[in-house]
Amino acid sequence: MAKSYKEIMNDITTFIFDVDGVLTDGTVHVSQTGEMLREMNIRDGFAMKAAIESGYHVCIISGGSNEGVRIRLRNLGITDIHLATPNKVDTFKEYIELYNIRPEQVLYMGDDIPDFHVMKLVGLPTCPQDASPEIKAISNYISHKNGGKGAVRDVIEQVMKVQEKWHLYYNGKFD
Ligand SMILES: [Mg+2]
Repeated sequence: MAKSYKEIMNDITTFIFDVDGVLTDGTVHVSQTGEMLREMNIRDGFAMKAAIESGYHVCIISGGSNEGVRIRLRNLGITDIHLATPNKVDTFKEYIELYNIRPEQVLYMGDDIPDFHVMKLVGLPTCPQDASPEIKAISNYISHKNGGKGAVRDVIEQVMKVQEKWHLYYNGKFD
């Protein structure tokens, strides 16, 4: 029998996220000078920081390019930030080889066609509630939250709870 997504979560050591439509709601505000402004969710950021500080790998693979995005993510402690990636599969393969990660240990969250092929390679393909139908069809878990609205927080929190790391992380933080 196929494993449930909760069972697969036991083996996850690595989170990989797309940016647009996952860490954002997919909207870009285009300024008069052509600069593209995005909105990110503070609770998603907290969860990524918690995951890193608890020893998980967190990696960003995006086709888009924006220095503001890079700075924001780096400030959360993320060191593996791949922007303007022409081929997500190649970037994924290089990344897991570098850190000696097995594909079964990876949770990937994507929302649209550019994520399709890489999502077929990972142990736990996931997506926000408002992902494209093609991506929903190949996801093992579909969050009840939308992109940019807590979907990233949802999957990190679930994995850390299954592995009993979530409470360990914030215990002592409010003393
Ligand atoms: Mg996307």
